[in-house]
Formats: sequence, C-alpha cells, structure tokens
Amino acid sequence: MSNTCVNCGEVLNGRADKKFCDNYCRNQFNNKKNSDVNNLMRNVNNTLRKNRRILISLLENGEEMKKIPKDILLKKGFDFKYLTEIYTTQKGKSYHYVYDMGYLNLSDDWLLIVQKIKD
Ligand SMILES: [Zn+2]
Repeated sequence: MSNTCVNCGEVLNGRADKKFCDNYCRNQFNNKKNSDVNNLMRNVNNTLRKNRRILISLLENGEEMKKIPKDILLKKGFDFKYLTEIYTTQKGKSYHYVYDMGYLNLSDDWLLIVQKIKD
C-alpha cells in the first residue's frame, strides 16, 4: 500500500508516517485548513448577528417581551440552529438566547421574544 501526499496526492517515498511531499505542501495544506475554519467561523458569527438583529427588530422601544408568530421569524430569515445559550427554568421552560436576545416557545406557532434581564 503506497502513501500519498495529503495536499497534492503525489505518491510519497520514505517513511511510512510521512504525510506531505515537502514543506511547501505542508504549508499549503495547513493554510487551506485554517481558511476553511476562518470561513466557517465568519459564517456562524454572521448568522448569530443576523438572528440577534431580527429578534431586536421585533421588540418596540422599551418592550422587554412580546408574543410573535414563529412564521414572522422564518420570513425574516431567522436560523433556529444558531444560538449562544439555552436556559431552562426550574419549571422546565427553555429560553433560547442569541447573546442578550432570546425566545421561548409558547406553542408550535407562537414564540415569546425576550430581552435578557441582567442579574
Ligand atoms: Zn504534495
């Protein structure tokens, strides 16, 4: 079984645990891996920022909470997969937070939008 370079796929000679042709291939591979991670982090951060912006836009000045149909969040592009924290109360209610803004599922169709109270 021959070993191939993780970066360019060339057949490798020499030690069995060798992973790259040379330093060039090693660097190129590591740079690409880092840029993939950076892109992933940028996308996640952008999605979190967008989610927070949507939640803020639903509360009017001075409101700390408001009942909103789930549909409205979906239409605005809220991505329910991206949260920063889930807080479950003693009564078993789970608040889903994006930084300081969050929501509580009231039913399948309704959410309660909340602003985190500083404690
Ligand atoms: Zn190579």
